[in-house]
Amino acid sequence: MTKIGLEIHCQLTKLNSKLFCPCKADYRGFEINENICPVCVGLPGSLPRLNREAVKKATMIAMALNCSTPEKIAFFRKNYFYPDLPKNFQITQSDIYGDTSVGGFGSVLAEDKAIRITRIQLEEDPGRLVYEGNSPKNRIALVDYNRAGTPLVEIVTEPDFEGPKQVRAFLNILSDLLENLGVSDPSLDGAMRADANVSIKGGKKVEIKNIGSFHDLEKAVHFEIIRQQSLHSREIEVVQETRHWDNKRKITVSSRSKEGALDYRYLLEGDIPWITIEPEIHQKLKSEMPESIGSKKERYRSKYNIPMQVAGVLASDKFYSDLFEAAHSDSTAKEIANIITTDLMGLVDTREKKESSQITPGHLRDLAESIQSNKISRNSAKDALYEMVRTGKELSQIISELDLGNLSDTDKLIKIIQKVISEESQAVEQARSSPQALNFLVGKVMQKTKRKADPKLTLDLLKKEIGI
Ligand SMILES: [Zn+2]
Repeated sequence: MTKIGLEIHCQLTKLNSKLFCPCKADYRGFEINENICPVCVGLPGSLPRLNREAVKKATMIAMALNCSTPEKIAFFRKNYFYPDLPKNFQITQSDIYGDTSVGGFGSVLAEDKAIRITRIQLEEDPGRLVYEGNSPKNRIALVDYNRAGTPLVEIVTEPDFEGPKQVRAFLNILSDLLENLGVSDPSLDGAMRADANVSIKGGKKVEIKNIGSFHDLEKAVHFEIIRQQSLHSREIEVVQETRHWDNKRKITVSSRSKEGALDYRYLLEGDIPWITIEPEIHQKLKSEMPESIGSKKERYRSKYNIPMQVAGVLASDKFYSDLFEAAHSDSTAKEIANIITTDLMGLVDTREKKESSQITPGHLRDLAESIQSNKISRNSAKDALYEMVRTGKELSQIISELDLGNLSDTDKLIKIIQKVISEESQAVEQARSSPQALNFLVGKVMQKTKRKADPKLTLDLLKKEIGI
């Protein structure tokens, strides 16, 4: 049986400062080695000060993943010598002396399979190594410490996944959950990274390190399963090793052997005291947590009668569910959910488009009310929505500029219907017995009115004029 376990590193991108110093947590956009201070580059004599908000956010993640959260948490030094880690140790958490990480023993449902969460720990991100030079002889490594000390949450799962699809489903759920909590923006480059452990048929475990995107993680796991199955079928033993994902060649390749837990010589970080989180604080954090995606979905379904699938799509994306929450009323909820999921999501489908979109909750409210009061047809509403996203103009202005309003003058509509009746005598005859011919006539009227007539009113008037 295939067994896959994950270690996911997620940056807390919504925090203001790094985990142990006042430098910016959002290190992107700085000049190289500009976002640093004596603490995050590990100068002798500098002392870390723990970021309280980071502990809160990490605890919220633990709670959202149904983990238990201990009353006392501690930090440890994980020793290793590598240029991206200026102190030569990483401040992290470990459960070697009991459960002292921010959370553990949780569980999440992915594709009807309960995935157990082993542990959630708070730690600092190392700096970033950049390699230059195109041949091994002149290759140099450059290091940028802007990222060093950025708050990172590591989520460790039990080896409960049975295939790459389940892995992907879990990662999507996790990414939506983190975004909904307002702790991280998973779409930022480098905000989510992962390691995966893969073994098949009770064979040895292979670890794939440092995969930069969910898409690649799914591919790497898939490749690794096939590689191990192929070895197994030729009766070659799978070696227990660390491999890395070669993104260019789309394969996993063997890499240097990693240290075992003992080599890291974990020891308590003496510069940070044990932190006590009283049950009342846990309780308060719980009450401050935003509504979960599951609860939103259920509310949309039960309160507004929005179909389950639409409710699920809407609830799981924070950008759209925030828009929905701010725009809807009891009477427009279903209409707005419909506009968002059938039209807006297609128009605004990337991070960049979301950022540049001019759409506001007021726009959606106006649009839904105008559809419901027959001021604008659903077809014209699509054109108006496109203009709103692009220009941010008000609906009334768009309607008059693009002449999108419904044909509300019944006398004018009757004249057009009479013209169609005179032109399409054969279809009129057929219409008495065939609904298809009637639809054809409605279509003709729509054509002549540039789709601005209300289809129901047109049908009623048409029947009246023909006398059926
Ligand atoms: Zn710093």
